[in-house]
Amino acid sequence: MQDFDTIIIGGGLSGLTAGIALARGGQRVAIATSGTSTLNCFSGSFDLLGYDDKGKEVQSPLSAAESLPATHPYAKVGVSRLGLLADKAADLLREAGISVSGKAEQNHHRITPMGIARPAWLTIDGCLTADQVAGADIVLVDIEGFLDFPVEFIKAGLEQMGAKVSVISLQLNSMRGGHSSPYETRATSIARILTREEALRELGRKISSQFSILNSQSPTVVLPAVISFDSLEMLKEMVGCPMQIIATLPPSQPGMYVQTQLRNYFTSLGGEIFHDAKVTSGMVPQGMVEGIATGYSGNVTARSYVLATGSFQSHGLIADYRKVSEPIFGLDVVQTADDGKPITNYQRTTPDIFQSQPFMQFGVATDEKLHPILHGVRVDNLYAVGSILSGHDGIRQADATGVSLITALAAAQDILGLPTC
Ligand SMILES: Cc1cc2nc3c(=O)[nH]c(=O)nc-3n(C[C@H](O)[C@H](O)[C@H](O)COP(=O)(O)OP(=O)(O)OC[C@H]3O[C@@H](n4cnc5c(N)ncnc54)[C@H](O)[C@@H]3O)c2cc1C
Repeated sequence: MQDFDTIIIGGGLSGLTAGIALARGGQRVAIATSGTSTLNCFSGSFDLLGYDDKGKEVQSPLSAAESLPATHPYAKVGVSRLGLLADKAADLLREAGISVSGKAEQNHHRITPMGIARPAWLTIDGCLTADQVAGADIVLVDIEGFLDFPVEFIKAGLEQMGAKVSVISLQLNSMRGGHSSPYETRATSIARILTREEALRELGRKISSQFSILNSQSPTVVLPAVISFDSLEMLKEMVGCPMQIIATLPPSQPGMYVQTQLRNYFTSLGGEIFHDAKVTSGMVPQGMVEGIATGYSGNVTARSYVLATGSFQSHGLIADYRKVSEPIFGLDVVQTADDGKPITNYQRTTPDIFQSQPFMQFGVATDEKLHPILHGVRVDNLYAVGSILSGHDGIRQADATGVSLITALAAAQDILGLPTC
């Protein structure tokens, strides 16, 4: 008898989403994961499709998806299902306690940690979006000693979006204890400090004391995301004015929040997480996975397996001078050009760093049900989901978190034998 109905390898956005959908469907599910996920770099907004294959900005992801090549993950799961799967993904986030706003029919614009507007699908409530900025009177908070929030870039970006921006610089005494230098302080450690009421009160007092100097009529205070969403609500009450956050450079507090909420929801549904469990290999004797080996608990078996190990950043793919490979199963890897046709004689990078980089298009080859291909043969009880998939470029197309959520839900539906919506 197998240890689990399904084992998911990788506990980032796609692995957790698949895990929740399967656990909700009544399965016994485990996630084996090691290392941090790219939620560490998350801006607070999820994207579905921000740019078409010519690099032109997309207004409606659902309409634009109809023109994607057959190799794109959305085309594989079926563009006609995209709207419904997108609604299910938004519902799943909300059920996990993550309050998001946005529509798959119409993009809005998020603000990157460098102060640039980019198209987005869903934004966590409390994160400032570019569409809220025009005409606003913004008081931007600079916390002295915190280096992961480039205030001058953000100010310039917000002004370009049409806001009037004043900057206030605050020194927080609460940041002094416990660290060898305030310059080593990261967003997530300040957020921990600000869970203490006296630290939050100090911040509130210092923001309020600057208002008299600024002479602002009805300002919106914008903070770097160094504060939990709960503490933000308390701070708003203390100061008595609207407040929003902009994500910082990694580690991202909103990203860690999403990860914690999804993990808690998964385990509350009975799912098991093996932390620090690097999967080193998989046994695939005859087109079926028969087990996986992890560093710490030996071999584990299941009826189905989901590979959600991410792209290069998370070591779901690895590259040497000769080739790009998938390290656990040795699955077939392809690179697809913008028109969807596989490239064999490729260059991995282009000299202009602002251009699309070909290495971003590498991913595992799959059939239309997201079963990966091993030496030309489909692996029936294995699914690949998220940014390990070929056929898209998450940075150029701004579709990365959408691909993670949508493919994870599509794979889970197939595993559960549910009719495709
Ligand atoms: C710098 C950066 C910034 C981004 N910002 C945004 C943003 O603001 N908005 C947005 O929509 N998208 C953003 N994205 C994209 C988005 O984060 C990803 O597309 C999405 O979260 C990918 O999720 P994933 O689960 O597929 O992969 P990952 O997040 O890469 O997670 C894979 C997980 O698998 C684990 N793993 C890998 N190998 C093994 C193994 N052998 N055994 C066990 N576990 C393993 C990894 O450690 C990791 O935890 C960003 C991406 C990057 C790189």
